[in-house]
Amino acid sequence: MPSYEDLKARVIDAGECTVCGACVVACPTFHIKFIDGKPERPKRTMDCVGCSICYEACYMLRHDLMKAIETSTIGWGRKESIGLHRSVVAARAMDADITRACQDGGIVSALLLYALDSGAIDGALVVGGEGWAPVACIAEHRDEIVRSAGTKYGVVPVLKELRAAVVDRGLSRICVVGSPCHIQSTRYLKYKGLPLASSVKLTVGLFCRENYDYACLAEKTRVRGVDIGRADKLDVSDEFDIYVDGQKLCLPLTDVKGCVPRHCLVCRDFAAELADIAVGSGGSPEGWSTVIVRTEDGEKVFSGMVEEARIETRDIEDISEVKEIASRKKEKGKQTREIFRLKEAGLDQEEIAARLGITKERVSHRLEGI
Ligand SMILES: Cc1cc2nc3c(=O)[nH]c(=O)nc-3n(C[C@H](O)[C@H](O)[C@H](O)COP(=O)(O)OP(=O)(O)OC[C@H]3O[C@@H](n4cnc5c(N)ncnc54)[C@H](O)[C@@H]3O)c2cc1C
Ligand code: SF4
Ligand code: SF4
Ligand code: SF4
Repeated sequence: MPSYEDLKARVIDAGECTVCGACVVACPTFHIKFIDGKPERPKRTMDCVGCSICYEACYMLRHDLMKAIETSTIGWGRKESIGLHRSVVAARAMDADITRACQDGGIVSALLLYALDSGAIDGALVVGGEGWAPVACIAEHRDEIVRSAGTKYGVVPVLKELRAAVVDRGLSRICVVGSPCHIQSTRYLKYKGLPLASSVKLTVGLFCRENYDYACLAEKTRVRGVDIGRADKLDVSDEFDIYVDGQKLCLPLTDVKGCVPRHCLVCRDFAAELADIAVGSGGSPEGWSTVIVRTEDGEKVFSGMVEEARIETRDIEDISEVKEIASRKKEKGKQTREIFRLKEAGLDQEEIAARLGITKERVSHRLEGI
């Protein structure tokens, strides 16, 4: 029977772990802890009963099930790079507290508030921050949701809080907000029938090109003379933007490339293809969000927000830019995985380049990261 050692060898030490938090929450003896940002079982192992639940809880070991999970949750049809969906629209929140604090159109926070007020959910797993360092949190009230608004760049185990949400707080209608990897993991736990996951009733995914190690980002900005903790906002577009003291510092993406974890280099999901609703800035004007509604549950919540005039919507004239980013991420992730495979098989960069018919510079560029 596979155990924690197998999870460690195949996922954690192999650089495949996306730090979703599922194994930590699934372990019945509470024996896995995040140590230096990785799910580790402390050296004293007698509490580990070798049950294999942590291994079974890791979606990174079951890519073969993702198609079936998509069919059973989202549906089926001709798939585009942004995933199966019912509608795509631009939207922005009307609530002034949200528009002050949010990243783009404030749709994620507005949706959580509406879902709470309407009783669709009784709480949410969100990402708050200590400064800009991301922290997994539970939000049950308006002020907690407003406080969690804004994008914190950094890897964060969102699902780690699921047990506390269900067992300690007694929540039974939870929304998980997270990156596409968090949403894949959530859907997988539900599909596998992890009892805690049955309390998740809604998933909101964020578009995601890549993520960064927060400590690495803080160091990159420190050498540029900026304390990232004092920033008013961080944003990634064609560059890494730090808004501080009314000024905008733009770092070229090549400066922060070395902060991208390995699991992000091979990731292929940009548009949170398994979420009930996916939200991002790409494709919409500044201050608006692009919203992709994928499921009936997502549609119900989104149309409820529109009916109560909590948000303003408008058509998106051209979604091709988002489709292009999503499709580039798929190609890049696939190619990078192949590069890693060949590297681990002992080929040098020149041999890999020749084998794949690409330049050596591209091979080296693809391997940049932590
Ligand atoms: C790592 C990362 C990379 C992204 N890359 C892109 C991109 O390339 N293109 C694009 O269009 N959009 C990207 N986004 C999404 C974008 O930054 C906004 O989160 C999205 O547009 C929602 O904005 P909003 O104003 O509706 O959200 P808000 O109302 O401001 O709410 C933001 C929500 O994000 C959650 N959150 C914050 N930080 C994290 C985190 N690290 N992990 C998981 N959840 C978090 C909070 O819980 C909060 O509920 C990225 C987001 C993240 C976290
Ligand atoms: S008790 Fe079970 S779930 Fe926890 S670490 Fe050991 S094998 Fe994994
Ligand atoms: S379940 Fe999540 S946190 Fe645990 S090893 Fe797998 S990817 Fe990492
Ligand atoms: S790039 Fe992929 S693995 Fe990395 S944070 Fe985004 S969704 Fe998760």
